[in-house]
Amino acid sequence: TSQLMQGKRGLIMGLANDKSIAWGIAKACAEAGAELAFSYQGEALQKRVGPLAQSLGSDTVLPCDVGDEASIDALFAALEAKWGKLDFVVHAIGFSDKNELRGRYVDTSRSNFLMSMDISVYSFTAVVQRAEKMMTDGGSCLTLTYYGAEKVMPHYNVMGVAKAALEASVRYLAEDLGKKNIRVNAISAGTIKTLAASGIGDFRYIMKWNEYNSPLRRTVTQDEVGKSSLYLLSDLASAVTGEVLHVDAGYHVVGMKAVDAPDI
Ligand code: NAD
Repeated sequence: TSQLMQGKRGLIMGLANDKSIAWGIAKACAEAGAELAFSYQGEALQKRVGPLAQSLGSDTVLPCDVGDEASIDALFAALEAKWGKLDFVVHAIGFSDKNELRGRYVDTSRSNFLMSMDISVYSFTAVVQRAEKMMTDGGSCLTLTYYGAEKVMPHYNVMGVAKAALEASVRYLAEDLGKKNIRVNAISAGTIKTLAASGIGDFRYIMKWNEYNSPLRRTVTQDEVGKSSLYLLSDLASAVTGEVLHVDAGYHVVGMKAVDAPDI
């Protein structure tokens, strides 16, 4: 894969640290020859993201809070000035009040519902809207979703509703941008221990459950999500759009607890 992304320029959004899914994707893209830019949320993350970006040969590290239209505009203005053209964008961003990632979905507050939808759903559309203008030779847009969009998973609550909306938006965006040869896809990743995931109630139990019951009898790594992302971001997937690709050790096909699964 060392030449797969040669000559391609991409923006990676959602890198917080070396446990982030965005990090697995960034490494895979850089190893395949892509030139990368990174956006980070808030001053505190700059210290972490700067050196990580540098280790992949990137000095383009820009702030962006996706809850703020002006901040997204500033990010894309800076990229436009630097690169002119963009080939791919990765949106690995989600957020919800962790007090509502436990207990009952029915108790979700209006304010956290709207905030979760804003940061975890609308932001992808807002980013793709800007990226479209820079993807003059076609392009590939990728977001991250989770099985909680399709089935009820413990504690996932409002994020499940948000991911369902995100997956629907992938399909609508794919239709809108297909004529420009811009593809829009999502990866539905298995559970991975990251900063965002640690906010979900009983996350260790959920990880174990996936490990014992997925067809591959294990969880997945950031690097494995990275490899599959490379497929969707590169020309290997030139006819793939509007897709939600499960990278979850097969968990989504399972109907019940495996007979050999130990008790947790
Ligand atoms: P992470 O904590 O490493 O990344 C989440 C990122 O979202 C952080 O970089 C954070 O700065 C960013 N973010 C939050 N609010 C933002 C805002 N207003 N503006 C800009 N950035 C903002 O965790 P992760 O698990 O790597 O999450 C990446 C994506 O993968 C999320 O969409 C998450 O829902 C999804 N996902 C994670 C798992 C898992 O088990 N970890 C499984 C499936 C899908």
